[in-house]
Amino acid sequence: MTRRWLFADQLGPHFEVGADGVLLVESRRALARRPFHRQKLHLVLSALRHRAAELGDSAVLMRTDTYTEALHELGEPVRVYEPTSYAAERLVRRLQVAAVVEDVDPTPGFSLSREEFAAWAGERRRVRMEDFYRFQRLRLDLLVEGERPAGGRWSFDEENREPPPRGADRLDVPAPYRPREDDIDAEVRDDLDRWTREGHLSPIGEDGPRLFAVTRREALAALDRFVTKRLGAFGPHEDAMLHGDWAMAHSLLSVPLNLGLLDPVEVVDRATQAYRDGDAPLASVEGFVRQVIGWREYVWHLYWHFGPTYRRRNALAARRSLPDWFDRLETDGVDAACLHDALTGVRERGWVHHIPRLMVLGNWAAQRGYHPDALTEWFQTRFVDGYDWVMTANVVGMSQHADGGAMATKPYVSGGAYIDRMSDYCGDCRYDPKKRLGDDACPFTAGYWAYLDRNAARLEGNHRMARPLQQRHRLADLEAVVAQERRRAAAPP
Ligand SMILES: Cc1cc2nc3c(=O)[nH]c(=O)nc-3n(C[C@H](O)[C@H](O)[C@H](O)COP(=O)(O)OP(=O)(O)OC[C@H]3O[C@@H](n4cnc5c(N)ncnc54)[C@H](O)[C@@H]3O)c2cc1C
Ligand code: SF4
Repeated sequence: MTRRWLFADQLGPHFEVGADGVLLVESRRALARRPFHRQKLHLVLSALRHRAAELGDSAVLMRTDTYTEALHELGEPVRVYEPTSYAAERLVRRLQVAAVVEDVDPTPGFSLSREEFAAWAGERRRVRMEDFYRFQRLRLDLLVEGERPAGGRWSFDEENREPPPRGADRLDVPAPYRPREDDIDAEVRDDLDRWTREGHLSPIGEDGPRLFAVTRREALAALDRFVTKRLGAFGPHEDAMLHGDWAMAHSLLSVPLNLGLLDPVEVVDRATQAYRDGDAPLASVEGFVRQVIGWREYVWHLYWHFGPTYRRRNALAARRSLPDWFDRLETDGVDAACLHDALTGVRERGWVHHIPRLMVLGNWAAQRGYHPDALTEWFQTRFVDGYDWVMTANVVGMSQHADGGAMATKPYVSGGAYIDRMSDYCGDCRYDPKKRLGDDACPFTAGYWAYLDRNAARLEGNHRMARPLQQRHRLADLEAVVAQERRRAAAPP
């Protein structure tokens, strides 16, 4: 008999429990080690305790200081599924040597195993997301007719980059699924309050009603509501931002997916079925499938493919510490409407969608030269869906270009014009997205030119950056803009 030890991100039925019982561990040290967002702590504890309650007598839920202590108290060997971080993998290997862990099974949390990815990546010079995504579509038979993509194209990105509807405060789409809290949530809230009062925890961000699914039943309800009511609107405004609509038509499934409550293949199967049934347009469905079995699985595999030192890369030599107001999500002194709203969203919910993450928060950090490792830690602890595996490629690679282009072919930096086109922020902002010099100069527009100037030598070999680098020479006021941004550097904008 060998009990199955399940980590807190392995809670769905595809992580099989077998007949020999389950071990779940609430490690106080893991919760307290970093300043996690209060709502992230709530979601993880609530998910663990709900799973323990569902499994009843077959599960042992241990509350100990460390994982090792729990295994010691259990006093019998366990088997595990591959964990999702280098730190947890090292722990599991150590426990395997000590014969506490009997076996490590491949994780069913992703559609493609690490061995299969390694075989696919082979000797490729670059592992491009677009190639991986096509491989996934064909392999999983998603939106394909034989070898060809449904609708004649692999990507509908062009249709999926519309600005928000003109004059609208919100998207005209039904609200997302909202879970109902129960006694377990009340107990979690009491525990977190007490531990914080007693000084065991120092969470960041505000407490608030639980917004994301933490049980299998809730996750299926959230998936169903998204596919039947919101998927059709997902595509066109995928990249748009509205001050009055934090969720837009996004799925809000990253939390249940990352807790292991949903199998990614069942998620994309539901979406493609909606297309086959004529209930959702191809562009939206393709856009969503691309996120789940494209981007999500790609960053998972890159985490292992690039190795444990990838997180420390700093190709643009960005060395500035995160200023206190940014670090602590304090927005009182922040006038820049886009940044104010993104930081407020993180403080109030631990979640903003991918464009505020990439083109507001990440863009800001890149322009100001925040240290990429510190920024990765910030994203990982401040977001409810943050985990080591998902953060490194998204932050170090995609958002900060700190890997020198190993992942993305060019840095995701832009001036205020992009934010102005894709949102309703600039109208009410005290800055002007068209201005780069003066009191009302948009910090993103001015910051963009200062970023190019600072990194010109490091980006010179990148052919996709040749034009913007060239364009900066046409600015008569470049020197003044750079000096202005140096002066404004640490203060909240
Ligand atoms: C700087 C930065 C940091 C990010 N940090 C995280 C993170 O900590 N955890 C996380 O799950 N996602 C992260 N993402 C990806 C993406 O922003 C979130 O997955 C998404 O916003 C979650 O909201 P949703 O479930 O409504 O997603 P939707 O927009 O509805 O997309 C559907 C699903 O696709 C998956 N997905 C899409 N893009 C990515 C991606 N780049 N990486 C991984 N999964 C993706 C998610 O599972 C998501 O639930 C990050 C992106 C950036 C640019
Ligand atoms: S003007 Fe600049 S700072 Fe203000 S909302 Fe627009 S992009 Fe953001």
